Amino acid sequence: MPKVLHTTAEMRAWRNGVSHVSVGFVPTMGALHAGHADLLRRMRRECDQLVLSIFVNPAQFGPQEDLTKYPRTLESDMEAARECGVDAVFFPTPEQMYPPGYSTYVEEQALTPRLCGEFRPGHFRGVTTVVLKLFNLVRPHAAYFGLKDAQQFFVLHKRARDLDLGVSVEGVPTVREADGLALSSRNVYLSGQERAIAPAIYETLQGAARHIESGAPVPATLAESRARLELQGFKVQYLECLSLPDFQTPQPGPGPGPGKPLLIATAAYLGATRLIDNIILWPERLEELGIKIHR
Ligand code: AMP
Repeated sequence: MPKVLHTTAEMRAWRNGVSHVSVGFVPTMGALHAGHADLLRRMRRECDQLVLSIFVNPAQFGPQEDLTKYPRTLESDMEAARECGVDAVFFPTPEQMYPPGYSTYVEEQALTPRLCGEFRPGHFRGVTTVVLKLFNLVRPHAAYFGLKDAQQFFVLHKRARDLDLGVSVEGVPTVREADGLALSSRNVYLSGQERAIAPAIYETLQGAARHIESGAPVPATLAESRARLELQGFKVQYLECLSLPDFQTPQPGPGPGPGKPLLIATAAYLGATRLIDNIILWPERLEELGIKIHR
């Protein structure tokens, strides 16, 4: 079994004991599924010591959000960690991470106002803060993040660069169910009927991607895709196409073919459950900008 570290002091002491080897890190909120396992297995091959953190971070949840009912499945998470070859699991309490009087936050300002940031005020401030704290405790050489949460990945990549963290922040493709639904710890909230409709999110994104790839105008494509989702019972919060890595509205393009990499992303409610998904067009061009996306 992996070593379980409950306190920041235990985490630091463990890290001091592995000072001459490479350390890979996968931060999560637990309720591990095959998407998390993929990040862990990939990192297992690239590092000497593999650290997983499980922390449902209060700072990234809004007052109306699902902090208290977020699924917590420590026993099966530990089993998954063992199967993926994790060496240490950092599992702190909120009090360990935010002791009384805690008052320091970091904020990325260019990318976070867009997409999810517009609808979840403070969310990315909570994410960038906790991941910085985790990086300071774990001191990893590399950390993997899922592209399922593409905005989170680009924000964390930018923050690592802006703050000279010296950690290689890398993106890993979204793991999906056979019908295309992106794996998410929140999928357990879906009713049977909602689960049957949910794959329409990815199908619709794929349709939009094909159109935009072949040179169709972006605004009309997005409007049509949004209407298609709403017709099927989704309440669409946003459906947007932004250039990468700078999250700008793309200018009308020169037509079909590879241009600047693009992110087509959506957040939509099915009943009370908020689902997010996205597609990146021309991801290979990100490599040229020094942004590592795994295949
Ligand atoms: P979470 O526990 O939801 O905060 O996710 C922890 C990490 O796993 C984040 O980097 C997520 O982007 C990533 N992740 C979550 N779902 C998936 C998925 N379906 N495929 C790949 N990575 C994922």
